[in-house]
Order: sequence, then C-alpha cells, then structure tokens
Amino acid sequence: MHKLLKKQIKELIPQDADLNLLAPFLQEIEKTYCSSEGELQDLKHQLHNTSNQLSERFQQLTYHLAQTEITKRELEHSISLLNATLNATYDGIVVFDEDGNPVTWNEMFLSMFSLELGKNSPDNRQIIKNKLSTIMRNQDEFDQLWEFNKTYLDQPSYAVLSTKDGRFIECNTNPRYHHDRNVGRVWSFCDITEIRIREQQAIHKNYHDDLTRLPNRALIYDRINHAIQTGSEDDEEHAILFIGLDGFKYINDTLGLEMGDNLLMEVAKRLQSDIPPRSTLARYGGDEFILFLENIRSSFEVSLAAENIRQIIEKPFEIKNQTLHLTTSVGIALFPADGSDAETLIRKADMAMYHAKNKGRNNVQFFARELELLTSHRMNIRNNLKRAIDNREFYLLYQPKVDLRTGHTIGVEALIRWKKSTGQIISPMDFIPAAEENGFITEIGNWVLEEACRQLSQWSSFNRKAFHVAVNISGQHFQKNQILHTVEDLISQYKVAPASLEIEITESVIMNDMDETILTLQALRKMGINASVDDFGTGYSSLNYLKRLPVSTLKIDKIFVDDIAKSRRDLALVDTMISLAHHLNMTTVAEGVESRETLDLLSQLGCDIGQGYYFSQPVSAEEITRLLTQDVSSETV
Ligand code: C2E
Ligand code: CA
Ligand code: CA
Repeated sequence: MHKLLKKQIKELIPQDADLNLLAPFLQEIEKTYCSSEGELQDLKHQLHNTSNQLSERFQQLTYHLAQTEITKRELEHSISLLNATLNATYDGIVVFDEDGNPVTWNEMFLSMFSLELGKNSPDNRQIIKNKLSTIMRNQDEFDQLWEFNKTYLDQPSYAVLSTKDGRFIECNTNPRYHHDRNVGRVWSFCDITEIRIREQQAIHKNYHDDLTRLPNRALIYDRINHAIQTGSEDDEEHAILFIGLDGFKYINDTLGLEMGDNLLMEVAKRLQSDIPPRSTLARYGGDEFILFLENIRSSFEVSLAAENIRQIIEKPFEIKNQTLHLTTSVGIALFPADGSDAETLIRKADMAMYHAKNKGRNNVQFFARELELLTSHRMNIRNNLKRAIDNREFYLLYQPKVDLRTGHTIGVEALIRWKKSTGQIISPMDFIPAAEENGFITEIGNWVLEEACRQLSQWSSFNRKAFHVAVNISGQHFQKNQILHTVEDLISQYKVAPASLEIEITESVIMNDMDETILTLQALRKMGINASVDDFGTGYSSLNYLKRLPVSTLKIDKIFVDDIAKSRRDLALVDTMISLAHHLNMTTVAEGVESRETLDLLSQLGCDIGQGYYFSQPVSAEEITRLLTQDVSSETV
C-alpha cells in the first residue's frame, strides 16, 4: 500500500483502536485503491489515444474543407462561364431533364419566343410547348419534334421551322448524358430568317430578269428541257414562240434607256397578263421574249397564241405622256418536229423570228428547214459582231477621191472592213445591216469616227488644207443626238480641223426624218463639218428636199455612173444631177469610176470629183500616207 496513504489512515485511526478489528477494512481499502489506480492508468492511456485520433481527424477535416472551398470556387467559375456563354450566343438555348422539364435556358430563348418562365415553376414545360407550337406555321411538325423530349432520347434531331410571322428558325436538339446515362436534352434555336431570305433572293435572281421580273433565259431552258424529259405521254407536243420587238432598238436609241426600260416593263406586263394556260413567258434578253406552250393540242392553237401576241403589242403604249408604237415578229419552233432540246428549239424559233423580220416585220413564221441555211450565215455574223470591236477585228481602208480638173487626191472615203479571227474578211454590205438590226451600229460608227480622226491627225503633218476623210454614218447612228457630242469631242481630242472631216449619209436616211436630219446637219455645219448625200439618185424622193439641205456635196450613185458611156439615158441623168447640184452650190462626186472613158465623159459634164477603181481601190492608211508623201512635191499647198 502506498506509504503516504498508510500514514494518513494511521493518523485517522484513534490511538486506542483495536487494530485487529480494523484489519479487514484496511485490507479492503487497500484492495479498492489499487484497482482504481490501474483503471486510472488505463483511462489515462485511452484518453491519450483518443486525443491523438481526434487531432489526426481534425487535420483531415481541415484539409477536406480547403479542398471543398477550392472545388466550390471552381464550380462557381464554371457556372458563371456557362451563363456568360449561354447569354452571349445568338442562339436560344433551353435544357430539359429526363422528364422533359426545363431546367435552364438563356435570355435569347425567352426573347426569341417572347416567353416568360418562373424559376423552378412546374408550369414551365407546358408554357414552352404551348407557345412554340402555336407560333409555328406547321404545328404538327413542331409537335413531332417535341416528342423527341420523351421517346427518342438518344437521337439528335434537326429541323428548320417556319413561324406564322414569317421567320425561319433552325432547331437542333441533342441528348445530354451524365455518366453514360441519358439525363435529358439540350435544344438550341437559331433565327436564320435573313440568311434564308438572302438565299431565296439569290435563287430568284439567278432565274429571273431584274427588269421585268419574268423568268430568264436559264429558267426557260430548264422548263423546256424539264417538260421534254418528264413528258408523260409519247405524243406530247410543245411550242416555243420567239418574240422579237420590231423597232425597239430605235426607241431605245432615240428616247433613251429609261424610256426603253419602261417600255420593256409594259410589254412584259401586257404579255404576262394574257398568256394561255400551261405556258411560261420569259425574257430571253434585250427586246426578245419567249413564250413556251406546253402540251399543245394543235399547231392552230399555237398560231392563235402568236397572233394574239402580235395584236397585244400592236396597241399603242402610253409611257410618260408619250405614245409609242411597237410591232412584233414571232418565230415558232415545235417539239418534237424541230428539235429535242431547249437549245435547238430556241435557236430554230429565233431563226423563224428573223425570217418574220425579213418578211417586213409584224408577222408570225413557223420554222422551216430552208430557214436554217438562210439564217445561219446571218446568225454567225450577229453572234460574232459583239466581240469584234473588243477583239480589234475592224480596220479601215481609204479610197482616194480625185479632183477631175487637177488629177490630185483631195481626200479619201473611209471604208470599214471586218477581219474575223479566222482570217475571213467580211464585207460591210453583209455586216452593216446586221449591226443596224442589233443596235451595234452606233458603237461601230463611233469607232470608225475615232479611227478616222486619229488617222487625220497623223496626216495633218502633210499640211494639205483641202484634204479630208469622209466617214459613212448609218441612219440609226445619225439620228441620235449624241453624234454631235461625239464628233465635237473627237475633233478636239485629236486636234482635227473640222473641215477635214466629212460625213456621208444616204438619201434614204435624210428622207426618213427630214426635219430632224436638217437640224443635225445644221449643227454639224456650225462646227465646220461638211456633209454629203451618199447614193444620190437611188431614193424615191422628190428633188425639192435638196434645196433645204445644208450639205456641201452630192455623191452620184455608181449605178448611174456605170453606163454613161453606153446609155444616153444615164448620161442625160448624170448631166441633170450635176447641173442640179451646181445650181444649188454643191460639189459633185461620181462614184464607181472604172474606166478612162467614163472619166472623160464625167469631166466633160463638169463633174468635180471622181472616185473608183480607175483611180484606186480602197487601200490601207499606209498607202495613203505614201501617196501624200509623193504628192506633196507637186501639190500647191
Ligand atoms: P458606199 O458608201 O457607197 O461605198 C462605196 C462602195 O463602192 C465601197 O464598197 C467601195 O469599195 C465600192 N467601190 C468604190 N469604187 C468602186 C468601183 O470603181 N467599182 C466597184 N464595183 N465598186 C467600187 P464597200 O467598201 O464594200 O462598202 C459598201 C458599203 O458599205 C458602202 O457603200 C457603205 O454604204 C457601207 N459602208 C462601208 N464602210 C462603212 C462604214 O464605216 N460605216 C457605215 N455605216 N457604212 C459603211
Ligand atoms: Ca459612202
Ligand atoms: Ca455610195
């Protein structure tokens, strides 16, 4: 027993106590004491262990807490990133859970469909469904798509929905997964209205004419070929009517492009309002239209349609307070008789239209095989003319004009030539009429004027005062007011003396619009430019008009000159012409002088100037330069 404890107990026991009696108690005390000390030791030990464990646990917890804080921050960051992304996109986005209830969405989704959703409201799902299906043009289509929220959870789906207010909305829905388990879908909506409209406009533009809004060349080709290829019956027949406006070019040239455009729009409107059933009207180009009649019963039906067109266009047009008159030439080709594809059929209808024009316009012609040979040459010219100027295929030859008294060359006439890339040379007699029909003549005429002026400025160094270049100007070109400006510009650009440029216009041009012609000629004369009447004697005109004309020269046509040596009658005619001209103070030029004999007679009659193969064929500018160089010594300047 512990000594201290024993001592304390002894002190507690009175002196006179019987120790023998106390002995069992003392033993009991000693026993109890010893066992609690052992327990105490145990407890102490346990306490120590627990405290160690607790501190370890505490450290772990502190660590976990720190980890959780980091994760929480990361999560917050992700969520804000996600929200920013969701709200930054132009797509409307909504996410559904596996029961089809919306869990999250972005602002765009709400504004795209004018939706208001409560956070966690149980009605959200129904609100979205109702709203979307009512604004869609095709509700069923949307409802079907909506089913994807339930039934086809594992498939993505895509659709372009159109809304009743005219929008196109592209819709994508994708399943979403969590640990490989499908937990709903993400829907995204993109408003593609603008893109769609632009696409549709582009398609429409590719297939329609800007001015008249009619189907264009490409579309009519498609239609025709489609009808031919998909025809159900074996004996189906179609007709292609090629409609050419007569005289449109003239209106366009004289009244201006705007007027021309307005007229074309009116023509298109008139034609379109009166086309037969099962037919397509297209603008083929310029002043050409095509009417495609499908599934015709007889050629009579086609004739009627063509005749109707002719009559519709014949009625006068009122445009900007002006009354305009047009006629049409219509050419017709039939499928299958004339061809089995759009290109052939249109080509043949075009040929027939040309034939109609040649027959005096304002009429209708069916394609006939003989036309093919007749027109191919013409078409060839027509197609190639467009490129001729750009390809520099034109050049000028010059034919000397000789003073019959002195024998000197006092000027030249510029005559155009066309050398095609194949080397073939085409006569102006062939291509000038074609150019007049196509309206290229102004461009060609301007080229001739410029080339002549350029050449004149080179020849000016020879200082031959009276030397001139005469240029042939077509009626169409001449009747445009613009010619005055062109001439004025060229003269100053090339520093050409006005008197050295001469304009030749034919008698028929003058008679076409006498008053207008006189005005233009007067203006030219004011500038100092001379004009001559070409092919004099060939028109059916009274001679009175000559008095009114401000022209300096008469060119007596070759057909009168040719036979003066043989025919007394022709000699008398030429004599009269010369006297008449002199009487009116005009100079005379005899064209087509081919022999000495003719030359002598002309001299006797007092003709001033001669031109013809006897003196020289039309020759190159270099030849004329050589001539001027030789001549310069003998010529009195
Ligand atoms: P034109 O103005 O009457 O020109 C005279 C034509 O007769 C020219 O034919 C010329 O080569 C030809 N010739 C000249 N002397 C003789 C001859 O002694 N005998 C024969 N048999 N012929 C002769 P070319 O060059 O073929 O021109 C034909 C027509 O083409 C011209 O007739 C004119 O109307 C037109 N032309 C020519 N160049 C132009 C041009 O630059 N512009 C326009 N608008 N028309 C032109
Ligand atoms: Ca001429
Ligand atoms: Ca002539």
